[in-house]
Amino acid sequence: ATQPYDPDNIFAKILRGEIPCDRVYEDDYALAFHDIAKQAPTHILVIPRGAYVGWDDFSARASEAEIAGFVRAVGTVARNAGLVAPGYRLLANSGIDAGQEVPHLHVHLFAGKSLGPMLA
Ligand code: 5GP
Repeated sequence: ATQPYDPDNIFAKILRGEIPCDRVYEDDYALAFHDIAKQAPTHILVIPRGAYVGWDDFSARASEAEIAGFVRAVGTVARNAGLVAPGYRLLANSGIDAGQEVPHLHVHLFAGKSLGPMLA
């Protein structure tokens, strides 16, 4: 089982508007904003609005609408940023071994250069 959701994690505060973010997209299911410490020329984080720690509880508990909405939002962010042709990388750290720092599910979108091999 995943850890309980911490409503005071930094992305929960961003969702509530208690902490600012550099927003690039939002809809009923998702919010996307620039990573504060970018690791590529384009580095966007896409998060679901729902209270999910990581991939496990999201895939197990989220509704079909939430899952579809989140997946569509990730694609929309990439499309809106003009990244379909040049390409981009999606990455989601889930849990300790992956080094997940913020306990609210997020997908990293990296783009803007040739990204090289995975896990370099
Ligand atoms: P993780 O290691 O959990 O997969 O990634 C967390 C990401 O969140 C990191 O890339 C980190 O730079 C980013 N991050 C942490 N705190 C903030 C914040 O307050 N604002 C924004 N925009 N990004 C943050």
